[in-house]
Amino acid sequence: KIVSSEDIQEARRKLPVYSVRGRLIEEIKKHQTMILIGETGSGKTTQIPQLIHEYRLEGNGAIAITQPRRVAAITIAFRVAAEMNTEIGAIVGYCVRFEDVTSIKTKVKYMTDGMLLREAILDPLLKRYSIVILDEAHERTVSTDVLFGIVKLAQKERNEKKLNPLKVIIMSATMDVDTFRQYYDNCPVIYLEGRTYPVTIYHSKMKQEDYQYAAVCTIFQLHATTPSSHDFLVFLTGQEEIETVMYNIKQIAKEAPGPPIRVCPLYAGLPAQKQLQVWKDTPPGMRKIILATNIAEASVTIPTIKCVIDTGVVKERTWCGASGAERLRVSTCSQAAGWQRAGRAGRTAAGAAYRLYTAADFAARPLHATPEIARCPLAPTILLLIAAGIEPNTFPLIETPPLDSVKSSLLLLKELGAIDNDVNPKLTTLGKKMSMFPIDPKYAKVLLSAPEYNCLEEALSLVAVLSSENIFYSPMHKREEAFKVKQKFISPLGDHLTLLNVYKAFCKATLKKQWCKENFLNHKNLSYACEVRQQLLTVCQRLNLSVSSCGPATDQLLKCLLSGLFTNCAWLRGGPGMAAGARYVTGAGAAASVHPASVLHAVRPSPPALLYSEMLHTRRTYLLTVSVIQPQWLHQVAPEYARRCRASR
Ligand code: ADP
Ligand code: MG
Repeated sequence: KIVSSEDIQEARRKLPVYSVRGRLIEEIKKHQTMILIGETGSGKTTQIPQLIHEYRLEGNGAIAITQPRRVAAITIAFRVAAEMNTEIGAIVGYCVRFEDVTSIKTKVKYMTDGMLLREAILDPLLKRYSIVILDEAHERTVSTDVLFGIVKLAQKERNEKKLNPLKVIIMSATMDVDTFRQYYDNCPVIYLEGRTYPVTIYHSKMKQEDYQYAAVCTIFQLHATTPSSHDFLVFLTGQEEIETVMYNIKQIAKEAPGPPIRVCPLYAGLPAQKQLQVWKDTPPGMRKIILATNIAEASVTIPTIKCVIDTGVVKERTWCGASGAERLRVSTCSQAAGWQRAGRAGRTAAGAAYRLYTAADFAARPLHATPEIARCPLAPTILLLIAAGIEPNTFPLIETPPLDSVKSSLLLLKELGAIDNDVNPKLTTLGKKMSMFPIDPKYAKVLLSAPEYNCLEEALSLVAVLSSENIFYSPMHKREEAFKVKQKFISPLGDHLTLLNVYKAFCKATLKKQWCKENFLNHKNLSYACEVRQQLLTVCQRLNLSVSSCGPATDQLLKCLLSGLFTNCAWLRGGPGMAAGARYVTGAGAAASVHPASVLHAVRPSPPALLYSEMLHTRRTYLLTVSVIQPQWLHQVAPEYARRCRASR
């Protein structure tokens, strides 16, 4: 239990929200819907729910506060529990995918937007809540966008049925207020004054070819010239990149002039306890350098930052409507994100932001990021809507997604067998079962087909591993050693069976931490996979699925995988007309090659057909997590799709 100190209370009283709390409470009492805009760090996320609870405005219901990011929901719940001097999981709790730390006593519930959406399937009126706060609305995730509509409908229906009314508060740092106001029938907007200090912006004079390298150089230039009390915040794109830069900093720091440093990573996959390091003070004379993904952009606030280093990039999941490919790619941030990042340097005093891109580059960027709904696969969301009894074609979305992406998602759901037709869709029995799994419908289908292939035992493990972050750990300076050790797990049939081999060996290992270290595996991610498996197993048991093992008949498992991932096939092509280096063409017609991290990379002869879990688009298009399949399997497993695929090629 974390004990709340005087300091915490003192810090709370200094937040902008505190000085206007009386007025806020009055406004919240008066209006059923309102929009609250305030600078990041003004106290919206941590204080507003506490205030509402102190004044008992939630009545008999609870307060739900959604966050687009799992890590924000968890760390903020811990912080608020500490501020309220209570244990996590009692009055204050959190609920994220595969982890529910709440009880019947919970009144202040931080949760991911995806979780609230899942709850809406079972209870579209969200009856257990009297107040729903949709936070970080400016991020415009698909789930938050859909929740805008869900709460609007729930509010209306609860009023009509004379049920306990539902209050809705939309919170955001910076935002395109007009879109939201119009959507909520001109509801009141309240602006919170942030206390921010000036931030001086510096741009690169020249275009930087390698932003990681530029970041490390900038860190050490500043390290040699600024006082040790100035903490740095560096924006990078993901876990691996953060680990690489962290390693480089530690190596260089041994020889570089300047004060001692502590490097803290901050990314979504990091365990909550490690994330809290970011808020721990360093001893006097020591500098803190935080390497973060864009989670530090708006969701969490670190007060001591005086210096921001902005690489100007972010890793986004994007989707290409025409080719049907889902892509994880590093892309440039919007101008709004650039200002938001720079603002992190001016929380407690004047600061500076170093942009590792030119002023001209900045000026050429779009003002705001494209909402996720315009670039993401919609099948998971559409399935949830249909499962919640909502007609997807008439649902009042704040922004209409591209028509072809709705159409192709409906088609995919039909081919997966989740809905009966793609014009006026009704959920099938299979679809109903699919919606019960908190995972992508493609993988839900894999689990539901598994008994047929006698491989639920293996399928559960595999889907669990695929639901967690990278389980292989290969530090820069030990790449070769890690590669050698990995050989004993490798299956000639590809990455899926290799992952399964690792997972099985992990389950058998006695001293797991030690074993992971020796085998260059990520203990935290593997442990997480075990928890996920347990949760998925619970759903399977509720559905009475028989858990049996295919043993050495691994073809069964691959066929089963194909039953959900049939749209993720690629065929060997090559020859003229192919993009440089690409050897495969996907079912949707994209040219791609096997990613160097795959065990099938550079295997010759190249297998004629592959199944992949993910597609990565950098300078080239890569297939990630790949397995060998027999070309004829597709006809056996998904005949309808196979015909369509052949017809279009
Ligand atoms: P907002 O939602 O308006 O961006 P928050 O409520 O998230 O603001 O944060 C308000 C302040 O609380 C921050 O400026 C920071 O000083 C403090 N804070 C938030 N989370 C933590 C934490 N985990 N540890 C320490 N301080 C925190
Ligand atoms: Mg916030």
